[in-house]
Amino acid sequence: MPFDQALHDRLAAIVGAAACIGDPADMAPYLREERGLYRGKAALVLRPGSTAEVAKVVAACAAAKVPIVPQGGNTGLCGGAAPHEDGSEIIVNMSRMNKVRAVDPVNFTITVDAGCILADLQNIAEDNGCLFPLSLAAEGSCQIGGNLATNAGGINVLRYGNARDLVLGLEVVLPDGRIWNGLRALGKDNTGYALRHLFVGAEGTLGIITAAVLKLFPRPAEIATALCGLSNLDDAIRLLNRARAISGDAVTAFELIPRIGLEMCVKHIAGVSDPFTDAHPWYVLIEFSSSRPDGALRGGFDALLGTAFEEAIIADAVIAGSGEQQKSLWRIRESLPEAQKHEGGSIKHDIAVPVSRVPQFIAKGVAAIEKHFPGARPVPFGHLGDGNIHFNISQPAGADRAAYLARWDEMSRIVHDIVAGMDGSISAEHGIGMLKVQELTRYKDPVELDLMHRLKRAIDPANLMNPGKVID
Ligand SMILES: Cc1cc2nc3c(=O)[nH]c(=O)nc-3n(C[C@H](O)[C@H](O)[C@H](O)COP(=O)(O)OP(=O)(O)OC[C@H]3O[C@@H](n4cnc5c(N)ncnc54)[C@H](O)[C@@H]3O)c2cc1C
Repeated sequence: MPFDQALHDRLAAIVGAAACIGDPADMAPYLREERGLYRGKAALVLRPGSTAEVAKVVAACAAAKVPIVPQGGNTGLCGGAAPHEDGSEIIVNMSRMNKVRAVDPVNFTITVDAGCILADLQNIAEDNGCLFPLSLAAEGSCQIGGNLATNAGGINVLRYGNARDLVLGLEVVLPDGRIWNGLRALGKDNTGYALRHLFVGAEGTLGIITAAVLKLFPRPAEIATALCGLSNLDDAIRLLNRARAISGDAVTAFELIPRIGLEMCVKHIAGVSDPFTDAHPWYVLIEFSSSRPDGALRGGFDALLGTAFEEAIIADAVIAGSGEQQKSLWRIRESLPEAQKHEGGSIKHDIAVPVSRVPQFIAKGVAAIEKHFPGARPVPFGHLGDGNIHFNISQPAGADRAAYLARWDEMSRIVHDIVAGMDGSISAEHGIGMLKVQELTRYKDPVELDLMHRLKRAIDPANLMNPGKVID
């Protein structure tokens, strides 16, 4: 094995003894993987404190041919930040690099270290009178470097785009240890290839992101939120279209919750109750926001829901009358993954199809599950507004968890074939990691896959940067 005591000492000298973790018990939290699907080992965990340290670590590892796993908040859902089982890799965890380098409210930009926690970044934007719109349930622990590396999505993609759309510049340590300083805060820059986009969504396979320049937005002055009950998904799409058409682009979130999901939340999550008197097959959490301080937003929001009710597009709606009520409606949506855990094993599919085809996808998917996996319980939920559905299937009640999860690949093949047949994506926002490498090989256009392999070989010829992730 190329990792030896001399390299250990060199790396410890670069980051300092306290940031060089070799004790198995101390390493354990860095080896834990969100879904418990992988149990890898690492030769060492390093927590560098600066870009210069990251560069020295990477150069030393490159010289010794030791592979590296970049790691942010370790909340990823595809095993991208988990080491392999052979213990040959070094984890480079970015949590010490958590400083804000600059805020420019006039330019609407913020420059941050990659290890900044997403929620901290949102708060700093707010302190400066701005909004950083990336928002997801793991925001209290995921880092902006991880968000960029996975091109994270979340609840506001419909209005503001995903992580890729929010980045203007990057600083990256390349697999040979060189630092690429692309920290430009420019709204316009047509000077050739947009290299930053190579590293966004690369899941650490092309280099370690050490800093980023991100876009800020005007802070919303008014937010209107409602949970609507609907009888079918076609009506949900009609509601979305209507909302987008009349709101002056104010729809920031449009999230789908199925009846079974709401029931699971009510059953398992403390403080969650069904806000409706009657049961509805589907629910949509809809949110408008606007930086206009004139109160016009709420009028338009109420009018939309009133007309939708009169036309029977929605069966009922609960409109939040306060910030607290907004939070409690969001709590239902955000508790769904946790509630599902209490129902045993869940086979998950993070898919996207064109928004107009979501009803067709869910109908086909549910029919296929009923046919091939009798008793399994589909809980399709998520970002309907951008076509990204978490098509998660809970095990049949009382079934054996391990036996059910053993059929993951079999079920995914069926679901992903339907997705591919609808020009969709088998990974909308969680990435590929280790989990979907084979799936990517199967579904990606061969020319596109070939280009991806060539790019990887060009930038990381020794295959030392997060090997075995994204592409084989
Ligand atoms: C409760 C929960 C809810 C979630 N909701 C969403 C959601 O709505 N939308 C969504 O998109 N995701 C969601 N996720 C997934 C996850 O939070 C995101 O993928 C997040 O962006 C990962 O950030 P992280 O810092 O935890 O990265 P990690 O998990 O540490 O790493 C993820 C990948 O990025 C690489 N990486 C990390 N940091 C760097 C860096 N500085 N440079 C280069 N590569 C790096 C790693 O090698 C790995 O491949 C959720 C996860 C949980 C647990």
